[in-house]
Amino acid sequence: MSSTEPYRLNSRAVAEATRQWLTKRGVSIEEIAELAYFLQKDYFPELTAEACVSHVEAVLSKREVHNAVLTGIQLDMLAEQRMLLPPLQEMLFHDEPLYGCDEILALSIVNVYGSIGLTNFGYIDKLKPGVVKRLNEKNGHDVHTFLDDLVGAIAAAAASRIAHRMQAAKEEEHPE
Ligand SMILES: [Mg+2]
Repeated sequence: MSSTEPYRLNSRAVAEATRQWLTKRGVSIEEIAELAYFLQKDYFPELTAEACVSHVEAVLSKREVHNAVLTGIQLDMLAEQRMLLPPLQEMLFHDEPLYGCDEILALSIVNVYGSIGLTNFGYIDKLKPGVVKRLNEKNGHDVHTFLDDLVGAIAAAAASRIAHRMQAAKEEEHPE
């Protein structure tokens, strides 16, 4: 887009960019779905990996998710390129434990699906299963200070969506 054109939001382009950047940063939908499965498998034994993928896809269709993911990935990348101003540069590069804006940004994803998402988000942050653990490993050049929380939040939101949809399905099967 040239700077002479008036700005107009292209939601489809934003959604596509979100998926592309997740892939470019090494995160697959399947890995996020595995986290959602891990969170809900004990409550819903009939839950399948495929169903979890479709719940993650649904979460990934939300505007709040696109905005948070694009913002967080951008900040991670700027920290990798040492483009941020000190002291923020050092705090993001070293994933400073007392810097909490990564978790706060991710909450905008969790909030879309209510409080079940919130408890699951905290649980993932504490346990760091699967892809979250990988994103947390420090190798001295890759920065995933924001991405680990964003991925955990997408999985937690998907878990919440699963819980709500499963209940709705149960009530449809056995109406009062
Ligand atoms: Mg983080």
